[in-house]
Amino acid sequence: MQLIDPILQFHTELQQIRRDIHAHPELSFEEHRTSDVVARKLQEWGIPVIRGLGITGGVGIIKNGSSQRAIGLRADIDALPMQEFNTFPHASKNEGKMHACGHDGHTAMLLGAAHYLSQHKEFDGTVYVIFQPAEEGGGGAKRMMDDGLFEQCPVEAVFGMHNWPGAAVGSFGVTSGPMMASSNEFEVVVKGKGAHAAQPHKGIDPIMVAVQIAQSWQTIITRNKSPLDTAVLSITQIHAGSATNVIPDEASLIGTVRGFTTSVVDLLENRMRAIAEHTAAAFDASVEFSFKRNYPPLINHARETAFAVDVMRSIVGDERVDAQVEPTMGAEDFAFMLQAKPGCYVFLGNGDGEHRDMGHGLGPCNLHNPSYDFNDDLLPIGATYWVRLAEAYLKNTSP
Ligand SMILES: [Zn+2]
Ligand SMILES: [Zn+2]
Repeated sequence: MQLIDPILQFHTELQQIRRDIHAHPELSFEEHRTSDVVARKLQEWGIPVIRGLGITGGVGIIKNGSSQRAIGLRADIDALPMQEFNTFPHASKNEGKMHACGHDGHTAMLLGAAHYLSQHKEFDGTVYVIFQPAEEGGGGAKRMMDDGLFEQCPVEAVFGMHNWPGAAVGSFGVTSGPMMASSNEFEVVVKGKGAHAAQPHKGIDPIMVAVQIAQSWQTIITRNKSPLDTAVLSITQIHAGSATNVIPDEASLIGTVRGFTTSVVDLLENRMRAIAEHTAAAFDASVEFSFKRNYPPLINHARETAFAVDVMRSIVGDERVDAQVEPTMGAEDFAFMLQAKPGCYVFLGNGDGEHRDMGHGLGPCNLHNPSYDFNDDLLPIGATYWVRLAEAYLKNTSP
């Protein structure tokens, strides 16, 4: 691996930063301490900082030379509302909050790159290091953009990265085109008529209607969408009733829809609404149907992906870069940035969990698992990738 020597020598400090952030996790739009830590470090290294984009978001500005060209590198900084099972010294000190997605590591890797870039300015233009809040459901990327991110930081392209448990340390995975899914939530409330359970003929049973809707919806996946389009419709909650001898007034179905194109999500929403309304009508019931679009699909741009792949290969070698990695139905709000700017999002292998210190939980080292921990061996690899990407992008020649 062709890692940058001064970054390797900075590993202990990066590990301290990462573990400090891990020990003090903060939820979406509440990342005040984390944001302060990031801003303080950047300023210590002489990097000007814009703060308050998307409430707790911040951007460091590293300039060199006279070129107007600019690149954006983005890390997410938020944690999850869950209890950590690990008991090692840097385990969460904040009850019910945990860095179980490795955003502590993403933050530290980007700080490592910023530190190096501020000291070794081997590029011509501007590198914007973007520290984004609220990736876990809050849409912090969108909030930063709504607050003028790309007006204040006019980047030509923007790049993102996520650690990937199960993939070998030092390996990268990426693909051009759709790489992560659009995520959406729905809720349908079936309104029937309550009755004594021994006299069902005097009511309209909303549970029967809800069951019919639940079953019929799955035919959208098998009968309405093209077999070549990928989509998931999962009902994750069914709520109704409070007694064994009462037919309730209402029943609700709640869940998620995922897909790789906006058109397939449109199709699912329209068919779900039609099936819910017409099924309810057939039973003399009615429905309230709501469908909320969360994150769009994450679509990597071809040119920037090819560019990023070359950079990855130059660092870890051809055999450690999978340029056609299997997409995932998980979602990621970096997708909003890729709708506004060309760019590319990559996975960086986090290993199988052997790196965890004594005192880790008994669960696997998977994202969103209470026994997870970011692998500190990745810090110099991710930071080197960011640096080489920025340097190559901002060479005097066009990328
Ligand atoms: Zn996550
Ligand atoms: Zn994450």
